[in-house]
Amino acid sequence: MQKLKLKDLDVRGKRVLMRVDFNVPMEKGHITDDSRIRAALPSIEYVLSHGGSLILMSHLGRPKAKPEKEFSLAPCAKRLSELIKKPVAMAGDCVGTEVEKMAKGLKSGEILMLENLRFHSGEEAPDKDPAFVKSLAALGDCYVNDAFGTAHRAHASTAAIAKFFPNASAMGFLIEKEVEELSPLLTNPKRPFYAIIGGAKISTKIGVIKQLLQKVDALFIGGGMVYTFLKAGGIDIGASICENTSEIESLPRDKLRLPKDLVIADRFANDAKVKTVLANENIPPGWQGMDIGPQTIQEWSKELQNAATVFWNGPLGVFEMPHFANGTHRIAECLANAKAKTIIGGGDSVAAIEQMGLQKQFAHLSTGGGASLEFLEFGHLPGIDALTNK
Ligand code: AMP
Repeated sequence: MQKLKLKDLDVRGKRVLMRVDFNVPMEKGHITDDSRIRAALPSIEYVLSHGGSLILMSHLGRPKAKPEKEFSLAPCAKRLSELIKKPVAMAGDCVGTEVEKMAKGLKSGEILMLENLRFHSGEEAPDKDPAFVKSLAALGDCYVNDAFGTAHRAHASTAAIAKFFPNASAMGFLIEKEVEELSPLLTNPKRPFYAIIGGAKISTKIGVIKQLLQKVDALFIGGGMVYTFLKAGGIDIGASICENTSEIESLPRDKLRLPKDLVIADRFANDAKVKTVLANENIPPGWQGMDIGPQTIQEWSKELQNAATVFWNGPLGVFEMPHFANGTHRIAECLANAKAKTIIGGGDSVAAIEQMGLQKQFAHLSTGGGASLEFLEFGHLPGIDALTNK
């Protein structure tokens, strides 16, 4: 279904209520990575340069449905103001008479940042608090969702609000680009099409793995989820991370590629003792799998050279510890230099690629880990479904 896009809206003289994803990493009140704010700039600048005013809504972190200073969006408003070189007014809340007054007073080209939506329980449970959704909607004349990172959530600001603007709920440029990049993976990816899925837990990715197995030519499994497969195969996995093996029983195995060798450690620490073992060997008691091994890196790199399309989500080892980042880094380098069109599905894999400065060598780095996985699993997302049909 074609959805209304930001360029389809006439924003001149309108108050545009825009959901952005400013859920940035913070340390002691300082933003450590402003990429999510930068990612929203095209939509923000479009509205301002086309005569609209903006009311920006976002969540930040996980406050417990009440105001908590450490989760205030004020630092994001300040950073946005620096980036666009314009004042950004900060509201004391996201609903209420004071906020309504500020929103009504906005002139064309002006911006108001609402306070963290998750200071109210209605944001995550809109069905239980329809009044909250209504108060949010009352602030604007039209609605734009540009928060791809939360588009898999049916929250007040990401989905429920759209019904108040039945003819004027549009996707912003960021969501538009994400859909454009991810959709071909579901419909007609150039082949061979390979997926690489890493990360900690199989249970959080089993749905998308099942879907991808129907689309890909091969699916490479790395990270902590490897050990559930090894255990199911009767291998002792020592102290490695593991989940219930029933999770993987129904998976067809013909397209699955598991590592041939592994780097294991005697502790979950960067300075632990390490060994490289074959994946069909038992891991000694107390030792645990931390990364894919050198033979695996070599074999996968060779196979990935032939790929036309690659989708990658999740680190292949405990990449936060430099001694166990090798698999993730070497495969990132391989893909950066390969001819394949590679799409990175958000989260830690994007962080690893950015740490290495390789981001320009990838076709697309998704801004939503969970959202990109759910888009590939279900083919649609609540935050997009709710928007106006064209
Ligand atoms: P996810 O959010 O599911 O993509 O998981 C990312 C996390 O998986 C990162 O914090 C990694 O450290 C972790 N991870 C990757 N490989 C392993 C492993 N072998 N054992 C434990 N954790 C791992």
